[in-house]
Amino acid sequence: MGVTTALEGLGSCSGCEIAILNIGEALIPIITEALEIVHAPVLMDHKYFGQCGEGVTLTIPEATVGIVTGGVSNHEHLEVLEEMRKKCTVLIALGTCATHGGIPALMNGQNRQESWEGIYQTVTTDPGAKIPHIEVPEPLDRVYACDEKVKIDMQLPGCPPNPELIAEVLVSLLEGRPPVLPGKSVCDTCPTERKGKGDVNKVKRFLTNAKFTPGAPIDEMRCLLEQGYLCMGPVTAAGCSKRGAPSCISARVPCRGCFGPVRKDGNQLLDMMNALASNGIDYKSVVDRRSLLRFSGAHGQLRPVKKQADKED
Ligand code: SF4
Ligand code: SF4
Ligand code: SF4
Repeated sequence: MGVTTALEGLGSCSGCEIAILNIGEALIPIITEALEIVHAPVLMDHKYFGQCGEGVTLTIPEATVGIVTGGVSNHEHLEVLEEMRKKCTVLIALGTCATHGGIPALMNGQNRQESWEGIYQTVTTDPGAKIPHIEVPEPLDRVYACDEKVKIDMQLPGCPPNPELIAEVLVSLLEGRPPVLPGKSVCDTCPTERKGKGDVNKVKRFLTNAKFTPGAPIDEMRCLLEQGYLCMGPVTAAGCSKRGAPSCISARVPCRGCFGPVRKDGNQLLDMMNALASNGIDYKSVVDRRSLLRFSGAHGQLRPVKKQADKED
């Protein structure tokens, strides 16, 4: 018998579950010999309240390892998360939605009522539509990361997380040792050429390609931040590197920050302002500064902007 494992998605896109499958062949011995999956709605038709809805309480089975993906945006997510905490000995938050709010927490930058109106009553959907309120889980006041609601034993960010690191976490649990995870920033894993300071004092929008010689190795390309692009490598946790360079950088595209802040409680917006200043780039040239929190809007980092009328009240 393997280690019992439960997998549950909250406000998620299932990309993290696909990242687990992307472990590839190495996953086969893990799931056939080492793990015994007892609950995984993404893989099996397991209902919360009995298979025919006959139950009155959530029926997530007990498991040694629980893996939770997605942000906590409504009362059903919260109930499921709390049940996972009760039933699992070790609880892992997998993916940036679970660790820092991720994409669902973009909603934290807006007034909740305005968000619902924007989703259900736009001219491109149906201006006369009613906002659903029957048999739809009641939303929370904002989107939370999992560790804001329950104790989390291990966090593995990434949107999606790196399959190699997921495998390392699973294998380390099976071997009873701490996982070996990168603790540095994306920049620390980036081989691009750095001269210390950029040549421009304003952020360039990424509407034209970065300068590089097609076919030349990545370490011959000048750092994208030094080229004036808004590369969030300095303020983003490492972990996405493949074949020796961070994923986006190897595609000659600036880092967008999808692994969340380097420090658990770091603020990617404030940290990026500092990184820009160190490069001699005017932070005011960033068109939408709040977008720097696009992956880490939980933990109270992203809040609705107060309108002038509200401020005057
Ligand atoms: S972290 Fe990314 S891949 Fe995972 S559930 Fe969230 S949006 Fe999807
Ligand atoms: S800022 Fe971007 S391009 Fe420059 S070293 Fe960091 S990750 Fe690489
Ligand atoms: S380079 Fe940045 S945005 Fe791209 S995958 Fe890595 S952490 Fe995510």
